[in-house]
Amino acid sequence: MIETTVKGKIVIAGAGVTGLMAALRIKQLDPGAEIVIFDKADRPGGMYQSIEYPGGRVFDHGMHVIYESCNPVVDDLYREVMDEQDWHIYENNEKDIAGLFFRGRLQDYSHYVDLRSFNEAEKKQFLGDFMLNLEADSVDSGRSARQLLLSQFGNEIVEAVHRPLVQALYGMSVEEADRFVVKATALERVILFNPDTMLDLMQSGKIRSRLAFPDQLNLPPYRTNDQKALYPRRFGMKHFIERLEGAVRQQGVEILTNIASLTLHCPSNRVNSVTIAGKNGDSKEVATSTLLWTIGWPGMAHALGVDMSGISMTRGPKVVYANLVFDKPPEMGRLYYIYCYDPGFAAFRVTNYTNYCPAASVDGFPVCVELWPSRLGLEASQLPDEQCLALVMDELRRMGIITDSHKLEFSAIENKGGEFPLPSLANTAGIREIKKRVLDKGVNNIEVAGIMADDDLFFIPDILNHAFSVIEKTFTDENRK
Ligand SMILES: Cc1cc2nc3c(=O)[nH]c(=O)nc-3n(C[C@H](O)[C@H](O)[C@H](O)COP(=O)(O)OP(=O)(O)OC[C@H]3O[C@@H](n4cnc5c(N)ncnc54)[C@H](O)[C@@H]3O)c2cc1C
Repeated sequence: MIETTVKGKIVIAGAGVTGLMAALRIKQLDPGAEIVIFDKADRPGGMYQSIEYPGGRVFDHGMHVIYESCNPVVDDLYREVMDEQDWHIYENNEKDIAGLFFRGRLQDYSHYVDLRSFNEAEKKQFLGDFMLNLEADSVDSGRSARQLLLSQFGNEIVEAVHRPLVQALYGMSVEEADRFVVKATALERVILFNPDTMLDLMQSGKIRSRLAFPDQLNLPPYRTNDQKALYPRRFGMKHFIERLEGAVRQQGVEILTNIASLTLHCPSNRVNSVTIAGKNGDSKEVATSTLLWTIGWPGMAHALGVDMSGISMTRGPKVVYANLVFDKPPEMGRLYYIYCYDPGFAAFRVTNYTNYCPAASVDGFPVCVELWPSRLGLEASQLPDEQCLALVMDELRRMGIITDSHKLEFSAIENKGGEFPLPSLANTAGIREIKKRVLDKGVNNIEVAGIMADDDLFFIPDILNHAFSVIEKTFTDENRK
């Protein structure tokens, strides 16, 4: 049955944090706006929704805390949605206590690669090249990860450290990698010196932007902003998502879930309406004033029928979540999470929830291992749960995160096919080309926000800053009407 609603609603594609926060921002700017949000999932929240198991056990999709955007419009909204006392609020050196498994060692003091374990001859080469390279950093590295890394560290470090690391993680050469790799994988700094020496060297901005202080809990106050990290006091990011969904609905916004397909009616240079079809067979046509798309340029191009010939995108690593509960804390000190960059591991990240949400450990100590089976040449969809669990347990032992005395109280493998976007130069160029072809269509009432809507948009603080600026431009523009 096709039902036509009143003319001129704002339609938001995607009910993740971006779509939901966007709806609240639009309502702030235009309280009379009529908004419909749709999502293919059965619940709003996207990657920030929690996974729930029978008996009330909850896990997030790996590590997800909310880092502020350093923009009061965004950050105040978090506190409007959920009272300050319902958040854990972490600041300064407590904001992000992260480590690394690198060269066979668990680093609990920093998530930047530590080069102090290389031999003396190698370290001399690294240092000499690094110092000489400090003079030669003015070249524009464009989108190339290799060029950016070279300008940061010089050739010796890039060849010995970053080339094998990028290959082991993403299965591509550093030449093929987009500079986003550097941000996504915290490669912008390395550790070369002990704390005392670094305290002196950190007087230099050039050094500080390249070398990390090897003791994150005692890092001197060099930060340029007072960004905080927020996590609900109750365990599960779902507690924030539920409040966010409630706040959005309270504003009269309609949220449609379980959506099977979408058809845009776009006879000229405007989307006049969208037909949203549910998985239960119902469909609804919504007259549309503006379409805010938070689910990526490729989907936008597909919905508009843009010719995609000649564009090929390579899919990123499939992510499998191993959700585990142990009878005692993992051997991770105060770390919230670690990355694992060594070859021979499928684990990409291990999260110890109890360290940033003590309520997580009511009946055991929950740990999530985010696996990229492709790192071991394995096909995620072909990996039986038992094999996956055995692999994870073995890797946690090899990293020293659990011992033989750790008892596994609960385990669940989530292997539903989510992906980490592959940060290759070819993919960035592909997205840019798709974006160009969409814009060339000249449809003037669509706006795109969310992951990869613009260069380097991936983490929620940047995504929301971008989305809010798009909204402010669109919905405060006098010419809109
Ligand atoms: C594996 C992985 C790990 C990450 N780790 C971190 C991290 O540690 N820290 C961090 O800050 N960020 C991380 N991110 C990024 C973070 O998840 C995003 O910044 C955040 O989720 C963006 O919110 P969003 O609402 O734009 O997108 P999403 O959370 O992805 O929400 C998009 C919504 O759109 C819906 N949707 C998608 N396609 C369609 C369609 N065709 N029709 C209808 N609905 C659709 C989805 O169901 C979903 O609800 C990670 C992302 C991934 C993939």
